[in-house]
Amino acid sequence: MQLITLLNHCQRFPGFVYEKARLCAQANSIEVEVRSRRNSRGICSGCQRPGPTYDHLPQRRFEFVPFWGFMVLLLYCMRRVSCQRCGVKVEEVPWGTGKHTLCKACMLYLAHCARKLFWKETAQSFHTSWEKVVQSVEYVVQWGWSTVNWARSAQLASTKSSTC
Ligand SMILES: [Zn+2]
Repeated sequence: MQLITLLNHCQRFPGFVYEKARLCAQANSIEVEVRSRRNSRGICSGCQRPGPTYDHLPQRRFEFVPFWGFMVLLLYCMRRVSCQRCGVKVEEVPWGTGKHTLCKACMLYLAHCARKLFWKETAQSFHTSWEKVVQSVEYVVQWGWSTVNWARSAQLASTKSSTC
């Protein structure tokens, strides 16, 4: 079984394809190239609407969940989208958020481990920095609060509609 088969099984991103995976033995990492599907449109990071590609930025590296002790990096050239509303904006990708170098899946994984271990231990165990563990915990807490606020809003809306 190949790594790309495993990635497609556990973390598929609509509109994107895992192209090649290679082992970098000296860096103790696995690099996986990602590309957008042909004729797919990038999502504007300003308004979350699809738009035509303006150009591509240099390749970025996103840390994915470590695998068998190897750091896994997704390599991707972000598209800039020519958005009718926002102008030229960098696309939003489903695995990343803002300028973070960690994938969302990796942030969830690190934050989960940071519940059980000291954050410094978590960073050492996964060959990453203490700051990235902090970013991961902040991301999950922020996501949790947005979910709680959404749930409260939905609960209030249903309470109001049932009392009217
Ligand atoms: Zn836009």
